[in-house]
Formats: sequence, structure tokens, C-alpha cells
Amino acid sequence: MAVKFKRTKIMASLGPATDNMQCVEDLIRTGVNGIRLNFSHGSHQEYERWIEWTRTASAEVGKPVAIVADLQGPKIHVGELPREGVKLEEEAEISFGYKADYSESGVIPVQYDLSQKVNPGELLFLADGKLCAEIVDVRDGIITTNIKVGGKLHSRKGINLPDTDLGGDIITHKDYADIEFAIEQGVDYIALSFVQSGEDVTLLREFLEAREASVKIIAKIETNSALDNIEDIMAASDGVMVARGDLAVEAGPEVVPIAQRHIIGLAQHYGKIAIVATQMLASMTDSSQPTRAEVSDIATAVVCGADCLMLSDETATGNYPTEAVALMKKVSLYAETNSPVEPKFINMEDQTQGSSIASAAITLAHQLQAEMIIAETASGKTARNIAAHRPQMPIIMATTNQQVAQQLAVVYGSKSYYFQEAEKAGLQAVQKQQEKGGLEPGNLVVLTYGEHPGVAGGTDTIKVREVQ
Ligand code: PGA
Ligand code: MN
Repeated sequence: MAVKFKRTKIMASLGPATDNMQCVEDLIRTGVNGIRLNFSHGSHQEYERWIEWTRTASAEVGKPVAIVADLQGPKIHVGELPREGVKLEEEAEISFGYKADYSESGVIPVQYDLSQKVNPGELLFLADGKLCAEIVDVRDGIITTNIKVGGKLHSRKGINLPDTDLGGDIITHKDYADIEFAIEQGVDYIALSFVQSGEDVTLLREFLEAREASVKIIAKIETNSALDNIEDIMAASDGVMVARGDLAVEAGPEVVPIAQRHIIGLAQHYGKIAIVATQMLASMTDSSQPTRAEVSDIATAVVCGADCLMLSDETATGNYPTEAVALMKKVSLYAETNSPVEPKFINMEDQTQGSSIASAAITLAHQLQAEMIIAETASGKTARNIAAHRPQMPIIMATTNQQVAQQLAVVYGSKSYYFQEAEKAGLQAVQKQQEKGGLEPGNLVVLTYGEHPGVAGGTDTIKVREVQ
């Protein structure tokens, strides 16, 4: 192949460490394809600024970038504690109360009234599962616990209750306000946190449809119930995120690597996007070098065929944001080149016209050793169908919808381009690749398109073309 390109996409979370235009541009130049706005931190004012910088930098660099608004969801946090934190000793009896005043009562404040939901015997995890308490009594709105794993607790740390049924309703008031804002800002994806069932996703889908919003949905898999309902969730969403941070706390860390493989496989089967998130390069928050285990983790996700790998603290608060992206790209490229994904999850029963055309185009491209596949795509569906086969060659996705081009930026193996003219967008893409040196005379390309360019669901033609 004339041009070396990275098939596995990279998403970076923005934060204080990347809070300037130059940083955002550097991330995109270095290899970032998607930007995550973490709605658990920051303000609308900040996101607005980051969205503007991302769009400007993306135009400057000349590649589409997906923007993901990641909702906080029903994540429960500890309230304000003394600056130095509170030391929770093992076996100590510690109480938690809704909006309690710690300095006055010694009760640890919680930003949500849990007393109606929890029961004695259930476990309460704090600070990403680092601390653990068993609930022993619930009385007058106060939850009394016995500390099982002690340590220092600081203000606003997260609480996980893997044994507790919070009773549906995972989209909070804050989330709804954030969704309205995200739609208004024209983000490309909304990530839904702590999804428990397919209905949670459908609820958001209906809300978006009522607003005629074309934003797509990523379901974050971070609870036991999400693992139980994974097929329904997969069918209802446009993509899923293996949210390993909370999933490890809720399901146990040993569950995560196996769940990750299963989820990536299912996503290929359903033609949905799979994102792997959290701690991929955690040590690079403070160090310019990764650990061997982190490099191995990235390579594993790539070999399994994830669409996209996400960086969190590494780029939001870390000291080496661009270095982390560069490293992730290097490891991905090596793994892709030397251990190509073996797609074994293709959905053979799905025999719609679109998916059948995708299969045929892949077979043709492989047998003829075509240089690339060029797909005209109006809604992005054809492009996603082709990508689900994890072909070895680049998939050039030509669309007349700017947002679709942005949404496709985090799809495996894609290079998406926006063209104003639907007529012969695929041929325009061939020309563009020729100009960039990706195609030479004599190369073969496989094109897929429809009789009526720009119409969703209309792909009905495959063509093999020799570059002149
Ligand atoms: P978060 O989600 O960073 O919003 O918590 C990802 C995860 O839980 O891994
Ligand atoms: Mn999470």
C-alpha cells in the first residue's frame, strides 16, 4: 500500500491539560479522530469553546473529527470533605447521609439520597473501587457502613453500588439539559452512561427523534445489567463503549478483559462501533513512557478489532497528551500491520441488500487485491457494513453529509470525506486519493454506490475500476 494509515481510531478526552486551541490541533494532527467532552466535569462554556476549536482544527488539518458528548448519567458522588480528605480505617463504622455536613456531624455527605435504595448487606465502593464499605444499617436517612477496604477519601469521589437496584431512570435532569445543549452545538455522538437495558437507549433515541436530531448514540457498558442485556443494547445503539473504569468496579476487574472481547465481537456482528476506554495508557499521565502492560493492552484491543481506543486522564489532565496519542498510534499501526484482525463475527443471517453488497465488495476487493474500497454513503450505513468485515485495505467513505463524515471518523479502517456534490462522489474520492499519492495508474479500486446518489439505503451497484 502506498500510504500507511491507521485503521484503529483514537478518541481523546479534553480537559485542563488540553485547554487551548494549539493543543487540540496537535492532538488531531498526531492521530486523534474523535474528541470526548466529559460532562461529568467542566461547564457548557468550556465545551462550547472546545467544540469550536475542534471544528476549526479539523478543517485546518483537513480531516473529519467526531465529537462525543459523554453524559454524566446517574453517577453518584461524595460531597465536600475537608481539603486534606478523610482517612477511612478498616473495620471503622462510617456513616453517609444526603447532603450531610461532615465538619458538623462526621457523616460523609452524598449528593443523592441513597437511603431509599440501599439495603444492609450491599457493598458500597468509593473512588473507583479503591475503598469498599459494607452497608450494615439504614435509618432516618443515614446509611451506616463497616469499612472493608480503607484509605483516604477526598471530595466529589464517585460511588458505585453494584448490588443495588437504582430502579431504571438512568437519564437525569442534568443529562437532559446537557443533551439539549449537545444537540444545539451539533455534536456527532451522545454517550449514555450506566446503561442497564436496551430501553434506556430507546428512551434517548425517542427524545432525539422528537427533536429531529441526527446525533448518534453510544451506550457505555459499565454495569452488570448492561452485560446481561448486551444484545438488546447493541441492537438499540449506534455504538458501544467498553467503559472499563466503572465496569471493573461493578462487575469485578477479572470480568472486564473477557467482556471486552465479547463486546468487540458482537459489535462487528451487528455492524456497530466498539470503543475501548479507560486506563489504556494510565501511566503516561505522569510519565513519558508507557508500561509494557499498557502497550500489550492496546495491541490486544487492536488485534480483536476494536473500532476506536479512548484516552481519558492521559489527555484531559496528563502531562504528556500528544505523546500518549503518538504512542497509541505507533502501537496500533504495528499490531494492524503484523497481526491483521480476523473477522469471525460476521452476521451471515443479515441478508439485507446493504449488507450483502458490503460482503460482495469485500470479497471482490480481496480477490482482486484492490488498493482500496470506495463507498458512497448517505447515512453511513453502507460504510459501517463494509467496516464490520474489517477489510485489510482502506475504506474511503464519500458522503455529502458533513455530520455523517464526522460520525464515520471513529469507524474502523475508514477515511471519510465530505463532498458537496453527490453526483460521482466516489469518483471524486478516487481523484483525491490519486492527488495524495494513495493511488497510482494500474491500481484497482472497488466502488459501491447507488443509482440515486445521496439517498440513504440506495446502494445497489459495485464497480471495479482501474486507475488511469
Ligand atoms: P467515565 O466512563 O470516564 O465517564 O467514568 C468510562 C469508564 O467508566 O471507564
Ligand atoms: Mn464510567
